[in-house]
Amino acid sequence: MIITFPSNTAEVINSIRETIGRNIEIHYTSSGEVCPTCTQDTLTGRSFNPFCGTCGGLGYVTTPITLSALAHVRWKNNISDSYNTPAGKIDIGNCVVTLEYDATLPTIIETSDYFLVDDVKLYFTEYDLRGVKDINRIVIILQEDPRDQRV
Ligand SMILES: [Zn+2]
Repeated sequence: MIITFPSNTAEVINSIRETIGRNIEIHYTSSGEVCPTCTQDTLTGRSFNPFCGTCGGLGYVTTPITLSALAHVRWKNNISDSYNTPAGKIDIGNCVVTLEYDATLPTIIETSDYFLVDDVKLYFTEYDLRGVKDINRIVIILQEDPRDQRV
């Protein structure tokens, strides 16, 4: 028996996301460029001038970047993902977002400062690559930090 797998699964999944998805923001910091103002100590990677006004003595400058992406969003009360452990059930995140896969995403996600989903600040905990036969989407588990709620 020859099993033929549909070849347009990614297209179907993408069009579903385009219909029911909404935009989220990924806030991350660009990998540092060598500071243009001061001189970097190649041994320590830091600036020779600890009071440099451009980099603050770090020796490199970073730029905050906001990436807007269309995502399928599921909040925790809609999902049942949890681990059963001898110590009890552990919930694995407050929110799950699914994005179209891009090879640059894993690095951006891993180095992300925070996510903004429905105006809620969330932090990356883990991700999973999905898709048959080719990877076509990335599932990201996000968690709220209760300390953000403190005033
Ligand atoms: Zn500098």
